[in-house]
Amino acid sequence: MFKKKLEIIFLTMTILSVAVLSYNWYQSHLFDSSPIPDEYRQLIVEKESEVLQRMQRHYGFALNIPLIITDELPGKSYGVTAYDNGQISIYLNKKAMRESLQYILDDVIAHEYAHALMFKRGSFVQKSDGHSAKWQKVCQDLGGSRCDRYVNHDDVVMGKMPF
Ligand SMILES: [Zn+2]
Repeated sequence: MFKKKLEIIFLTMTILSVAVLSYNWYQSHLFDSSPIPDEYRQLIVEKESEVLQRMQRHYGFALNIPLIITDELPGKSYGVTAYDNGQISIYLNKKAMRESLQYILDDVIAHEYAHALMFKRGSFVQKSDGHSAKWQKVCQDLGGSRCDRYVNHDDVVMGKMPF
């Protein structure tokens, strides 16, 4: 009798776990396969314009470069700044947004614009300039939080993106 009860409990738990997993998978699949929600886009645009206003105030100009939301970046990357033949572009990872939108808003947008500004001013010459002291200052001026936390992060691409 006791054994039977255990079996039922175990079976119920298994069914529940499968249900939860399937639901999570479904939600994440739904998010990945739909366009980015309007409210996300709105928050990103607002943050971008705040960063650009800070750039104008601190550096006397505001970069006009594409900010591209894509699901082609690898899952662990939040954002990338690419420099290809004089054209600077910023990519944000759509796949990271469902879990980490707030982090992208607070940290990543200013972070990537700081890389873009370094390119624009010719301060980025080699990979090790990526998160230099100069870059940190720009990142802070642009309102990024935790600009000192990035030491070895591969988010600067010279040349074409692989997609
Ligand atoms: Zn970086």
